[in-house]
Amino acid sequence: MSLNLKTDKAFVDGKWISASSGKTYEVLNPATGQVLGSVPDMDQDDVRDAIKAAHTAFKSWKNTLPKERSVIMKKWYDLSLNYKKELATLLTEENGKPLAEAEGEILYGSGFLEWFGEECRRTYGDVVPSPVQSKRTLVIKQPIGVAGMITPWNFPNAMVTRKAGAAIAAGCTVVLRPAEDTPFSALALCKLAEEAGLPPGVLNVVTSDRGNAGPIGKELCENPLVSKISFTGSTAVGKLLLSQSADTVKKVSLELGGNAPFIVFDSADLQKAVNGLLACKFRNAGQTCVCANRVLVQEGIYAKFVHALALAIENTLKTGNGLEPGVNQGPLINSRAVEKVDGLVKDAVACGAKVIVGGKNAAIGGNFYEPTLLSDVTVDMRVVQEEIFGPVAAIVKFKTEAEAIEIANNTTAGLASYFFTTDIAQAWRVSEKLQYGLVGVNEGIVSAVESTFGGWKESGLGSEGGKYGLDEYLVRKNICYGGI
Ligand code: ADP
Repeated sequence: MSLNLKTDKAFVDGKWISASSGKTYEVLNPATGQVLGSVPDMDQDDVRDAIKAAHTAFKSWKNTLPKERSVIMKKWYDLSLNYKKELATLLTEENGKPLAEAEGEILYGSGFLEWFGEECRRTYGDVVPSPVQSKRTLVIKQPIGVAGMITPWNFPNAMVTRKAGAAIAAGCTVVLRPAEDTPFSALALCKLAEEAGLPPGVLNVVTSDRGNAGPIGKELCENPLVSKISFTGSTAVGKLLLSQSADTVKKVSLELGGNAPFIVFDSADLQKAVNGLLACKFRNAGQTCVCANRVLVQEGIYAKFVHALALAIENTLKTGNGLEPGVNQGPLINSRAVEKVDGLVKDAVACGAKVIVGGKNAAIGGNFYEPTLLSDVTVDMRVVQEEIFGPVAAIVKFKTEAEAIEIANNTTAGLASYFFTTDIAQAWRVSEKLQYGLVGVNEGIVSAVESTFGGWKESGLGSEGGKYGLDEYLVRKNICYGGI
């Protein structure tokens, strides 16, 4: 049987529905500017209905055996792999990332369904040695309840599975609002979940345009039937959601903005460092929260590194529609993003940075920006202090290891960091000193389903993935038996 994964309806309580107002909004393909389709523009009333459905579904879903949930998760995973091509094409059409990258995201994203489906059978508790003869104590873990989720456009598939996969496997039910730019990937996952046998109300996806994002987010945070909030997106919105969740004391997970340092020490293997930067900086056209944002290069290798990177950018990066073969640089998500990136480049140049490659809107027009290399960047420039979220490598020169660590840690962000060295002692020292939740040592791609992902400082709260990921959706209970 073949499913049509693209739908123009939202998914609530096992039904494919329109907004109660009847309103819809158009989703654009960022590569062509053409309308890809329309989805419901839902509001606060619609999300309230979805929360009620999720709350009702939780009453029975929480009592299912981990093994039963595991079987459904495995079917969901298998279906995701079977529909890899369709899911990847939809993803490229709505997000713009090149097809090969989109397929990579589908594999990564599907992996969370498999992983959490397996892990939920191992949510062990503890038997605690009693301090009193007459008592026995044990600790069990139980699902927390309805989880409200808000996901971003830069990983339209994997951010849904990393959150909803964990919650559903843990025995929670979900109300999720995908980013307005990329609702189709989330809805396609609902089609597959339905086919896998997930009961009605366990996964609900509510779509809306940007205008209703605030009211929907507020409802998720303030509604007493919701027990948990999980958000990936900007630091500003994360802080707002955290404060909105205070009144009902919700458990909150946040994956927020980064300002990743990428440090190249004199002893680094030059080619490995260049390849690492290409992978980590130009993936998704620089639009990930773990992309290198500040490239710090030691003075002894600086000139060689800038030269080799310029050649690599010119020879290996090809900008265009992500559906075309050979393209590895797609468009930015929308025109606002292009203006922001161009503004940062112009500001850096005005402050003394040199454009070595790129530095302007791509000749093909639209939302495309040239892969850019800026040298002679200094730490006071906006391009270093703000999250670029675009294909711009800004290179800063440093002298000593201590100076590099000082610059790297001198930020309120603490998500990803990277460094390249062939000195083993330096590798240990620097990994321990970096104040980041993720550290890549001679490696530009660090996340894996099996490991943990989360930021320090203002980059977030909690962590996703790995053996710790289910805990975000579980609460511990101390059970004490007396009179023994
Ligand atoms: P970006 O700048 O990458 O779009 P945002 O934090 O603005 O980052 O967006 C991440 C997600 O949060 C998107 O789904 C967006 O629609 C949503 N969002 C934006 N503003 C709010 C808000 N006030 N409340 C809840 N969600 C919001």
